[in-house]
Amino acid sequence: MNDTKQKRSKPSPKRLSVLELIDISPNLRRVVLGGDDIAKFPEGCAGDYVKLMFTAEGRSDLSQLPAGAKPAMRTYTISEFDSQQQRLSIDMVLHHHGDIKNSEAGLAARWAANVAVGSEIMVGGPGQSAGIDKQVAQGVFVADMTALPALKQLVAKGQVTEQAQLLIEVNSEQDKQALELPEGISVQWLLRESETSLSDALSKLVWPEQEFVVWCACEFGNMRRIRALAAAQAGFQQRASYFSSYWKIGVSEDGHKLAKRQDAEQQSQQAGKTA
Ligand SMILES: Cc1cc2nc3c(=O)[nH]c(=O)nc-3n(C[C@H](O)[C@H](O)[C@H](O)COP(=O)(O)OP(=O)(O)OC[C@H]3O[C@@H](n4cnc5c(N)ncnc54)[C@H](O)[C@@H]3O)c2cc1C
Repeated sequence: MNDTKQKRSKPSPKRLSVLELIDISPNLRRVVLGGDDIAKFPEGCAGDYVKLMFTAEGRSDLSQLPAGAKPAMRTYTISEFDSQQQRLSIDMVLHHHGDIKNSEAGLAARWAANVAVGSEIMVGGPGQSAGIDKQVAQGVFVADMTALPALKQLVAKGQVTEQAQLLIEVNSEQDKQALELPEGISVQWLLRESETSLSDALSKLVWPEQEFVVWCACEFGNMRRIRALAAAQAGFQQRASYFSSYWKIGVSEDGHKLAKRQDAEQQSQQAGKTA
């Protein structure tokens, strides 16, 4: 470890309250948070991620946690931030296999479906994700609904490449959103008909012939398949690209974190072998 490197201290959790609930589309709900602690978020933090904190039963009232127990954390992107109006928005996918109001959905999705204006929640962060190298002109940007807020912020902040193809997977036709895109950027919407529809579509993609980067954030298995597809292309610039899984089919965020760690270890072992 480099001792001279200053360790950035973790920001302490903030207490925020729900100001407004906006149903953006059938499977996406915007939760607008506010309160005095908004002042502790830095300007320009839209696109960063935060950690929402829950009890094991999915309540945001952490006074109900048993003594010594740690809260369950769920990661979300700040989709919009307005320091003047003291509003921080999070766009939450209402994923579920049965009734969203019951226990079949995850803690966070169920909270988003049931929460009322005025409820409070503890929020950790914000933290920043790595990006891509914009020096490369061509880019392929892949997102599912969980990563759409992050992708929209990349576009808004001019962090996509000059010529970019966006491939966005949504759960239904009604979940497509109107995007304001600069010239040179095209979008292809894909419907999530099966677990692999995103990676299937990518397998049919005409990849750029010149050097290109990839920004990809979606389900774990899809991310791995897309990463392998990209790696097989001649112009792919791996070091300048970004791949992240945002969730994993069949496991909660805690199980997903373990899978991510194992995947990162495998990746660095492979890189070691090929170096
Ligand atoms: C950096 C980062 C930013 C993210 N930003 C956002 C964001 O802005 N908006 C957003 O909605 N999500 C976002 N996510 C994804 C979100 O953290 C996960 O979807 C999380 O697992 C949801 O928690 P949960 O409590 O609802 O479900 P969990 O308790 O974690 O999981 C319960 C079950 O639901 C399944 N599941 C989880 N998510 C989904 C899904 N999207 N679709 C279908 N099944 C699912 C799991 O496979 C599991 O079987 C982000 C993740 C990361 C790493």
